[in-house]
Amino acid sequence: MDLHTITDVRDARLREPWRAGDAWLGGGTYLFSEPQPQLRRLIDLSRLGWEPLTRHADGSLEIAATCTIAQLSRFGRGSLRAPAAPLFEQCCRAFLASFKIWNMATVGGNLCNGLPAGPMISLTAALDGSCLLQAQDGSAREVKVADFVRGAGVKDLAAGELLRSVTLPGRALECRTAFRQASLYGLGRSGALVIGTLDPVDGSLAVTVTAATTRPFRFWFPLPPTAARLRAAVDSAVSGSEWFDDIHGLPEWRRHMGLRLAEEVRRELTHTFERGEL
Ligand SMILES: Cc1cc2nc3c(=O)[nH]c(=O)nc-3n(C[C@H](O)[C@H](O)[C@H](O)COP(=O)(O)OP(=O)(O)OC[C@H]3O[C@@H](n4cnc5c(N)ncnc54)[C@H](O)[C@@H]3O)c2cc1C
Repeated sequence: MDLHTITDVRDARLREPWRAGDAWLGGGTYLFSEPQPQLRRLIDLSRLGWEPLTRHADGSLEIAATCTIAQLSRFGRGSLRAPAAPLFEQCCRAFLASFKIWNMATVGGNLCNGLPAGPMISLTAALDGSCLLQAQDGSAREVKVADFVRGAGVKDLAAGELLRSVTLPGRALECRTAFRQASLYGLGRSGALVIGTLDPVDGSLAVTVTAATTRPFRFWFPLPPTAARLRAAVDSAVSGSEWFDDIHGLPEWRRHMGLRLAEEVRRELTHTFERGEL
């Protein structure tokens, strides 16, 4: 849609001073989807020329904030040689996305939107990702994805701060993964999305609950927990108001599905582990 309050679109390469009413423009799929009366200028990130995906010597993977869903999907299906590779496509497909969104929406825009059903939040939180944030004064800081998103649409992001990239540790990419998603209707927005990762080196298990909750919850266990222990961990960490409530699912249903899918990923991953087939 037309944004009638926008008076200028500036190129981020110009590094002009940040003003009240400015917003970073990623793919624009959220920004142009509803009125933004508080905004005056958009600072376009699309010409920064950042390499979308970089595999570092230590095995970690750096995903630029400007990497699109389409680029990440291609990478997950083609170039990435790692046990966790299938998870990339599963999360890209968890997007309620048209062709335009698929090709324009960015990983950074998805994280900075902070929606509970943000599948790039699910992917990068589950794989223990860290955000690299750059402030207007040039200083940088890192924060775990699971801490970056603090609530529905609430992020750990100061005015003018830019998400530069998300880095996934090489160890996380070596994990075996299990993925479960539930929606109220076919191809609907995720009402619950749970990912399990089993570390092949030490046998630790992480279960990450998203979409059902207002923010990502990552549960890490040094050894796979029992069903009862996992359930108790989720139930004691997620308070009643943190089970998300909107048109895509009631909190009671989301809690039910969150707990059920968490148990399903635990079983899928520990079945093999218990039989010593790793
Ligand atoms: C039909 C439709 C379906 C959708 N389905 C989903 C869905 O299933 N799940 C979901 O999560 N979203 C969904 N969305 C919302 C949106 O498309 C996605 O969240 C998308 O990933 C946003 O990415 P973008 O690059 O287009 O962000 P933009 O629209 O460009 O920006 C989103 C927000 O992030 C900020 N931002 C962008 N990049 C950065 C950066 N690098 N640093 C700091 N701030 C930044 C912007 O200022 C803005 O506030 C949907 C939207 C539509 C229209």
